[in-house]
Amino acid sequence: MSVGEVRMLIDGELVEAESGKRFDNINPATEEVLGPVADASATDMKRAIAAARRAFDETDWSANRSLRKRCLEQLHEAIDAEREELREELIAEVGAPRMLTYGPQLDMPLADALLWPAKMIEEFAWDRDLPNGAAMGFNSQRSVWKEPVGVVGSIVPWNYPFEVTINKIAQVLATGNTTVLKPAPDTPWNATRLGRLVAEKTDIPAGVFNVVTSSDHLVGEELTLSPLVDMISFTGSTVTGKRIMEKGAATLKRVFLELGGKSAMVVLDDADFPTVVPSGSMVCMHAGQGCAMQTRMLLPRSRYDEGVELITQAMSMVPYGDPSDPNVMMGPVISAKQHGRVLGYIEKGQEEGAKLVLGGGRPAAFPKGYFVEPTLFVDVDNSMTIAQEEIFGPVLCVIPYEDDEDAVRIANDSGYGLSGGVFSSDEARATAIARRVRTGSIGINGGMWYGADSPYGGYKSSGIGRQNGTEGFEQYLETKAVAWLRP
Ligand code: NAD
Repeated sequence: MSVGEVRMLIDGELVEAESGKRFDNINPATEEVLGPVADASATDMKRAIAAARRAFDETDWSANRSLRKRCLEQLHEAIDAEREELREELIAEVGAPRMLTYGPQLDMPLADALLWPAKMIEEFAWDRDLPNGAAMGFNSQRSVWKEPVGVVGSIVPWNYPFEVTINKIAQVLATGNTTVLKPAPDTPWNATRLGRLVAEKTDIPAGVFNVVTSSDHLVGEELTLSPLVDMISFTGSTVTGKRIMEKGAATLKRVFLELGGKSAMVVLDDADFPTVVPSGSMVCMHAGQGCAMQTRMLLPRSRYDEGVELITQAMSMVPYGDPSDPNVMMGPVISAKQHGRVLGYIEKGQEEGAKLVLGGGRPAAFPKGYFVEPTLFVDVDNSMTIAQEEIFGPVLCVIPYEDDEDAVRIANDSGYGLSGGVFSSDEARATAIARRVRTGSIGINGGMWYGADSPYGGYKSSGIGRQNGTEGFEQYLETKAVAWLRP
């Protein structure tokens, strides 16, 4: 694979950091250096923020809908033309299994993330009329206008970096905002590639879209602190999400936060166990590094042993290893830090009395790379740390329940509220349970809600607001009530 784009995009120019510093992009499957990328300081970030502010205030980007639509379509075509290079890059820098690049890591979001908001630019009701009013004796013709929020700080994580980034910035730009994109230091090249494509292949005016890479998380915090930034659109950990709210309060930042999860897979006692229960091993997809993973499997006590046997067998057959191998579903976790974190949770689970039946460590066949074995805990109590905190590794917790009431209680006994699944041979029964689970999304008998048109986000500590869908689109808009005096 060739070296990725080293330069950032600031004010329409592809640039190195002002200091000339760079940091290494590491392949998590081999621990080898892939190559360098610009290492921005707060000075570079401030320059990018100022450029985004100027582009919002001084160009016609916020008002020119046909330009925006054309630019999103140009960007779609430009990415599509480099799709195969991007695929190899995601496999190398993210450790994303090749299999998943044909789905949620690349091909799925590329299909609609830019084109759906581009279509919305034409279809959305930017202005709507209200009935004439007579408040305080003034006969008035009234309307409501939707206008962009302004400058948006787009901060993204490393687990599905292209998917999150493209869905985020497509809506940010479609709605007429300008932005500074801050990728995670672990996965910078897919973002700098976007910067290069925007500069070279689209008519997006200078300063509308900026990319700033840095090894220092606090360079990202400039976005939250700056009075020139109107909104933060963040996907990542709940801890950082809370910090963004706290630090952003001084300038009353609008926030969209898409945070962690601890989703439940509720298997009802009438489900077809041999087909349903093994699908719980999907928790190992991309080594469990997905916020919507169903990491708690709830099994009815009446069929508990049967369920445990089926899931043990399925978890022992998860194909993992070199992410470039097309048959692999699970590669490494992203970094040494995450590797240590996941293994720490596994230790904690054992200390607190959960029964480890599979995995639990680094696989012997992979002395290099940040690999963790598919790991299964059974007899987990929902109050244990491994059932309450997001592990972000290939770890499944099996929890027994007594009856449907108990299953709903356990599913909802979580600080998080992101996603989940319910399985039953009686669809109406599963749907009734799904209505009672307090999460931002839920699949019934394996149904998938994903798409650029589908709002995605969380209840409780899983976040505020929605990515995608009309709900996501409107989030990047302010509302202005207008009235004309009529005789
Ligand atoms: P993080 O939330 O700290 O990082 C996500 C992004 O936020 C990165 O771009 C990072 O540079 C940036 N960031 C960090 N601190 C910031 C700050 N103070 N101001 C502005 N931006 C800041 O996540 P992490 O430390 O890389 O991972 C830790 C845990 O987060 C994981 O183990 C997992 O549980 C969770 N996580 C969740 C998601 C998700 O999609 N919900 C994604 C990644 C990680």
